[in-house]
Amino acid sequence: MNQRILIVEDEPAIADAVIYALRTENFEWEHKLLGHAGLSALKAGHFDLVVLDVGLPDINGFDLCRELRTFSQVPVIFLTARDGEIDRIVGLEIGADDYVTKPFSPRELVARIRSILRRASPTEPGVGSNPAGMPFLIDVPGQRIHFYGVPLELTRYEYLMLKVLAEEPARVFSRIQLMQRVWAAPDHSLERTVDTHIKTLRAKLRAVRPEKDPIRTHRGLGYSIER
Ligand code: CA
Repeated sequence: MNQRILIVEDEPAIADAVIYALRTENFEWEHKLLGHAGLSALKAGHFDLVVLDVGLPDINGFDLCRELRTFSQVPVIFLTARDGEIDRIVGLEIGADDYVTKPFSPRELVARIRSILRRASPTEPGVGSNPAGMPFLIDVPGQRIHFYGVPLELTRYEYLMLKVLAEEPARVFSRIQLMQRVWAAPDHSLERTVDTHIKTLRAKLRAVRPEKDPIRTHRGLGYSIER
């Protein structure tokens, strides 16, 4: 069955370009011009991913995403027009998986969609190798990380950050180093977002093994994964 994408975008020209690219790649799609119609569609039917414009006339894309998260974990890619919005998305207070900045190439967007769907789909157990008996198994082609055999549902940034930490156990990474590894264009104002992601990562690891806390905080230095 083809994967279904919901597009919530009030500018028909942009929506048409996205739809064209999706159709070329055999995705099924539905398009809503308004946020509330998008929410209703998400409550009514199944979608594999949502492409969500931040600037909608009736409800802000961030508020929509927050409301969506009360009943669904469907992956979300934001379409954003302003740099100021990127900080909030990258901060991921809203639980987005990725974003693209307008103007964007629809083909690039579809490539991001594919990468997120690959990460979200279940992979074969035992994929990849478990480095040095670590509890973490990093499935790079599938862009997923398993913790004690349980695949973690990670956002793009959580995945990248945990991968950096787990690949070099016991090495302490400062927040700046983590930002440089994870974000293409790091900005010191985003330093606190590292803490935010560490917090959500810890919660996800705790959900698998409540008694384990493999991420160590080094006061004033940064973070590492226990060896
Ligand atoms: Ca708009």
